[in-house]
Parts: sequence; structure tokens; C-alpha cells
Amino acid sequence: NDYNYTPNEKEYEKALRPLSFNDFTGQKPVIDNLKIFVEAAKQRDEALDHVLLHGPPGLGKTTLANIIANELNVGFKITSGPVLEKPGDLAGLLTNLEEGDVLFIDEIHRLSAVVEEYLYSAMEDYRIDIMIDSGPNARSVQIELNPFTLVGATTRTGLLTSPLRARFGITSRLEYYDTDLLAKIIQRSSDILKVAIDEDAAYEIAGRSRGTPRISNSLLRRIRDFAQVKGDGTVTKEISLFGLTALNVDKHGLDDMDNRILTTIIDKFKGGPVGLTTIATAVSEQAGTIEEVYEPFLIKEGFIMRTPRGREVTEKAYKHLGRIKNPSQGN
Ligand code: ADP
Repeated sequence: NDYNYTPNEKEYEKALRPLSFNDFTGQKPVIDNLKIFVEAAKQRDEALDHVLLHGPPGLGKTTLANIIANELNVGFKITSGPVLEKPGDLAGLLTNLEEGDVLFIDEIHRLSAVVEEYLYSAMEDYRIDIMIDSGPNARSVQIELNPFTLVGATTRTGLLTSPLRARFGITSRLEYYDTDLLAKIIQRSSDILKVAIDEDAAYEIAGRSRGTPRISNSLLRRIRDFAQVKGDGTVTKEISLFGLTALNVDKHGLDDMDNRILTTIIDKFKGGPVGLTTIATAVSEQAGTIEEVYEPFLIKEGFIMRTPRGREVTEKAYKHLGRIKNPSQGN
């Protein structure tokens, strides 16, 4: 993830995390299917098939993995691709899993090739080879694992190798949330935090959350401070607007990088079309990150179009940035 958290923020996120399917707002098609698969696995008394969750950061992948474990009534272990440096790191986790447990691997596309290969037999046959002893006595022994469910999270399935992708029985894509859903999530978080919030305030914050519950919750956390210090503690629309302006949050919820991408395409490339890697170089960001994290939202909100010749900004982007499209540059 690109986010840097303070321990406080981590605790805050944890407190707001839904714990059951019914507590989880939105993503209806994904939830409806998962409910069936979980129920079926429970009826058969088997481990649930491995699940791959994909979608931009902050949409609820970790939350859902945790919910799957809760709904299955099994244990939950969490790790991430970059943390598992060698097969031994993974072996330690796998051999400690109890029957039916959920192992969550965040950023699973960042597993090293050796660790990934090691995972194959674990996923397929619940079996791993480990080396014991060293030198002339070194030998590999096979260990049986308890049946378990691997839940992997990634920003894009295209980042996974096909052998890994093929080992997931269930693949679900999380989508950006609309304003209504985010407003609901903000109301729910406010209830948990015992913060009074007006409905129009929840909508105002929701509309500027970049379609992302994590951003909704972190904006609420800040706006709550403004309400406490500048108001009587209630998050009103007025306080929200004041806070959002003070925090420099864009009217459409675009963040700095979103705006930089748009400005760059307009100023350096006459509005496009321009190739992804060229944009990436110009804004000093990885092409993959732009494609997975920034561009999907900009396209969804109609600021950028993907054309066969590259990316083009739209009329809406010019308007948003207060620019005038030079007619002589028309396309
Ligand atoms: P990801 O793993 O996709 O980056 P997380 O699962 O960590 O995202 O979610 C980020 C935060 O957003 C969590 O603290 C959680 O409280 C909140 N959140 C995510 N999805 C929902 C949802 N559908 N309803 C309520 N809160 C949510």
C-alpha cells in the first residue's frame, strides 16, 4: 500500500472495520456470492476454496478476508507478499494453521518467485516440502498441512502469474463505492465513534472520498476535530465544508497525484493522447501504480478517456482545473 499509517490510525481503522457480511456496506454482487460459497463450505464441513480479491487500495479487501474467517468461524492469520522473503517464512505460517483457517496474503503479487512456487503445492494439495538438517544430512521431507483457505489481495489480477491465478477457485473484484454507500459508511463510523453527524455533512464528506471507504473514514477523523474545536461537536455541513477546505480536499475527492496527472497531460501533452509510460515519467510515478490506483478512478469519474492512441483528458478535467481548452489544440 502507498499509505503510511501512524499506530493511532491503524487502531482507528480497526475499530471501524465491519466484522460480518451483514455489517459490510456495498459490493453486493461480491457479498452475495461469497455468502453462498461460505455457506456451502460450512455445510460440507470443508475448507472454503481459495479466494482472490482484487481492486484499488482501501475498498475493503482486508476487511472482507477477516469477515470470511469470522463467517466460517475459523482462525485468521495475516501477512503480505513483501514480508515473506523466503520459503521458510511461509512454511512457519502454513504449518501453524488449524483446520479450515484463513490465511490472508496482502499484496500477493509481490511474492518472490521462490515463495510463490512454494505456495503452489500448499494451495493445491495442502502439502509442503521442507528441508531438514544441513550439509551431507540435508534432506527434504513432505509435511501435510491442515486444509486451509488462502485469501489473496492484489490491486490487479493482471499482476499475478497465471499459475498462481489458476489456483484460486473464487475471484472477486471490488468496485469504487458511490456517494450513497460512502455516506452510509460514514454514518456507521460516526455511530461507532459516538460522533453526531448531519446527513448532508455525511454526503459532503462522502462525495469527496474518491469512492474509497478508507478515505471516508480518515476524512471523518479529521472533520471530527474541526467539529470539536470550532463547533459544538456535531459534524454539520458547514463544519465539514470548513474542514475540507482547510484540509485542501478537492471538490471531486481527487488527490494530489490525480490532479498532477491531469495537469501534466494538459500542460505538457496538450491534453493528450499520450502514452501511460510517458505520463508516468512526467509525474515520477510507476506506470503500474498509475494504471491500478489512479487511472481507474479518473476514468470512472470521466476526467480521462482511454483511446487507442493513449490517454486523453476530457472537457470535465479542463473545467475542474479551471483551464480553457485551446481550440487550436483540438483533437
Ligand atoms: P484494502 O484491504 O482493500 O486496502 P481495507 O479492508 O483495509 O481495504 O479497508 C480500509 C478501511 O475502510 C477499513 O478500516 C474499513 O473500516 C473501511 N471499509 C472498507 N470497506 C468497508 C465497507 N464496505 N463498509 C464499511 N467500512 C469499510
